[in-house]
Amino acid sequence: MLSVLFALFVSAAHAEDTASQVVCLDATRLQKINAQFKVIINTDPQGVPAVPALDPCDDQGIAYKLYQAIMFLEDLPALTIRPDAYDLNMMTELPYKFFADHVETIVFELADSNACSDGNAAAFVRRGEGKVMHICPASSASDLLYMATILIHESRHVDGFPHQLCDHGRWAGVMFRGCDPSYEFKGAYGIETEFNIRLARTETIAPEMREGARGLAVATFLENFNQGPFGVRKGLITQRADGDIGFFDGQITESLFKLPHPNDVVVMRANLTTVYGLSDGSVKSYLNSTFNVETGGLYAKTFRDLAPETRQDMRDVLYVKSASCFLTAKHLRCDDGPKTSEIDLLTIRPIRLVQIADYLAIQDVDGYIYTINPASFGTPAFAESAFTRAAAPLNTLSLVTWEKTAKIGIDNNGVVRHYGVTGQPGEPIPALAGTQYTKLIGPTWWSAHLADF
Ligand SMILES: [Zn+2]
Repeated sequence: MLSVLFALFVSAAHAEDTASQVVCLDATRLQKINAQFKVIINTDPQGVPAVPALDPCDDQGIAYKLYQAIMFLEDLPALTIRPDAYDLNMMTELPYKFFADHVETIVFELADSNACSDGNAAAFVRRGEGKVMHICPASSASDLLYMATILIHESRHVDGFPHQLCDHGRWAGVMFRGCDPSYEFKGAYGIETEFNIRLARTETIAPEMREGARGLAVATFLENFNQGPFGVRKGLITQRADGDIGFFDGQITESLFKLPHPNDVVVMRANLTTVYGLSDGSVKSYLNSTFNVETGGLYAKTFRDLAPETRQDMRDVLYVKSASCFLTAKHLRCDDGPKTSEIDLLTIRPIRLVQIADYLAIQDVDGYIYTINPASFGTPAFAESAFTRAAAPLNTLSLVTWEKTAKIGIDNNGVVRHYGVTGQPGEPIPALAGTQYTKLIGPTWWSAHLADF
């Protein structure tokens, strides 16, 4: 019976492709780890588990990443511990000792493992199984920081601390238990977040690692605690025509930051507001009062590599289901796993990408929507001529669902309004009246009190 799984889900923020120098893992240290932990492959529940094959120089291999993360924990310098609202002193041991005290056996699950929640789980611990942690194939997409975070998270589950269903965020409304009740619950999300806060606060840690840890902590604060800490509340990210980015909670609006260029493309990426800078080719996530360092990932690289004049024509990025699409004035690129689809746009004059049910759509400057079935990604049927034009133009520049069927949108004049169930514009929203807007993103969760920890 696999009903009680403490699974950690894959974070899109850390499913990155990175190209760097491969460092082969040290054979002596590998031996030492294998002497301390039992590392096996779950070939068959009834059969004899096999030892995993490890290529110590394949830095994309899942076993490599696991061993590398264990070594990373072991090599950590003394982390800064500053007990306050962000550091509840949940982890009283050094991170490596905490992990080694909780885990004795590490089991690699195979691709067909049903315990890996249809590929959504990165890792899990089974109640009553003792000091055993299971690693799922999806965790092979993790970077070093995320893999280390997985080890700390799962270690906590060995003591229990089950998750509950999420009432907001990416995992709301699905049957996966991806949230802790609160930060103060001191569960697996709590301890991994405190671990990341300590990394972020430690000056001897590499700056990129500290920023990554900070991003992970903020994203987890926003998404994985049902009782949002530090005043985290629901709202919309708003983009004004003059480039001001704000947060609107349904009642009041507050300014968060100003875009370098008013047409910079703003998207939500792994629950963080991310800006594609048209003028300098940067891709940065907004954490609180400051921007993160450059974001990794496929589209950040695609964007950076564009010629400056093409980059100025960037229109939108859309993460839809497992695929991601990238739109410029004359070109659409979609990636879904290994399938890359690209088309030149000759007829459609795009202003944005829209997801309509399971379909991908482009909105033309004249308001008409052109849709295509993402099933055609990677096939010759993915062509401009295969897009279906809607019967009538849309009087909407941006439209989000606020609550169940209640929608908020921006009409073609930049006025933010309530919208009806079928998408017809209603009354303007008083708090946002008199100002021209270009984009709404959300609903999302935010708090100005997520201070610079
Ligand atoms: Zn968990």
